[in-house]
Amino acid sequence: MVLRGIGQPLELETRAEPVPGPGQIRVRIEACGVCRTDLHVVDGDLHHPNLPLVPGHEIVGIVEAHGADVTTPGLGARVGIPWLAHTCGHCRYCATGRENLCDEPAFTGYSRDGGFATHAVAEATFAFSLEGFDDPVAAAPLMCAGLIGWRSLAIAGDGGRIGLYGFGAAAHILAQVCRWQGREVYAFTRPGDTAAQAMALTLGAVWVGGSDELPPELLDAAILFAPVGALVPQALRAVRKGGRVVCGGIHMSDIPSFPYQLLWEERQLVSVANLTRQDAVDFLAIAAKANIRTTTTVYPLEKANEALADLRAGRFQGAAVLVP
Ligand SMILES: [Zn+2]
Ligand SMILES: [Zn+2]
Repeated sequence: MVLRGIGQPLELETRAEPVPGPGQIRVRIEACGVCRTDLHVVDGDLHHPNLPLVPGHEIVGIVEAHGADVTTPGLGARVGIPWLAHTCGHCRYCATGRENLCDEPAFTGYSRDGGFATHAVAEATFAFSLEGFDDPVAAAPLMCAGLIGWRSLAIAGDGGRIGLYGFGAAAHILAQVCRWQGREVYAFTRPGDTAAQAMALTLGAVWVGGSDELPPELLDAAILFAPVGALVPQALRAVRKGGRVVCGGIHMSDIPSFPYQLLWEERQLVSVANLTRQDAVDFLAIAAKANIRTTTTVYPLEKANEALADLRAGRFQGAAVLVP
C-alpha cells in the first residue's frame, strides 16, 4: 500500500519482492501495526517522507532471505522491525548511547519503505527476535506503541503514580507494564470517552477521567500520548513538585502559553524521540515477563486506508493491525 502524495489515500500496488542488500534481511510480513505516526506521515505533519512510500513501522514477520554477510537472525525466525531503521554509529549521540537522536538516521515507513506490504527489507541489526511471541497480530503493536511507551516511562522516572493522557495503543500496553511494576495508573481520556475509560479500568487503572479533570492526588509523572498541545499545561497542573511531564508523540499541536507557576518548583517538561535498540531489547524482555496482552482490531492489508481513517476518528480501542 503506497503513499504517492501527501494527504492522498494509499494505493494498492504490485511490486517484485524486494532484494535484501548487504547487511539486510527480507521478511515475509505476518502483521503490521498502524501507528499514529503513520497518520502524521500521510498528513504531511512530518516533513519530506521518501515518496512514493510504503508506510508502517510495527512489522512482525518471518525472515526468508539474507543479504550478503548476514547469518542472524536465522531464516525462519520471527522478528520485529521498528521505526528506527538505521543509525550512523559515529555521531556524538550514537557514541554516547543515545542513537535515538542520531544525526543521520533512517526510519522504517518514512525514509525507507515499511510494513504495509507483504514483504519488507530491513537491516539485520535493527530487527529483533520475537521468539516466544506466538501471535504476530498481538505482537505488532509492541514494536512502536509498546517501545515508545516503554522509553517514555523510563524517562518519566521511577515514581509510583503515573498519569497517561490519551488511552490508545501505547497507553493500553504501558498501563499493564506499570501495573506489573507495582505503579498506580491514572488514565486521562477524551472527555466522555467511556469506552476508553472502561478499558483503562479493565487494565488496572486506579482512576480514570477526562483530560480536562485533575486526578484525586498529584502525580509523580504524566505521559502524553494524545497529540494535543493544550494537554501540556493540564498535565503540569496534575504533577507534584519536582514531577515530570513527558511528551511521547512525534508531533503535537501547538502548546498554549501558560503561567510560569505551573512549571515552577522544579517540574520538568521533556519529549521522547524515537528509540534505541537497547530499548527494544529491554522492552521485549519485559513484555514477555509481564505477559502483556494487546487489544487489536485486524484489517486486511488492502484496507489500510480504512484502518487509518478509523484511527483518526478513534473508532476502535487498542491498536489496529494490518494482515496481508
Ligand atoms: Zn509509531
Ligand atoms: Zn549517529
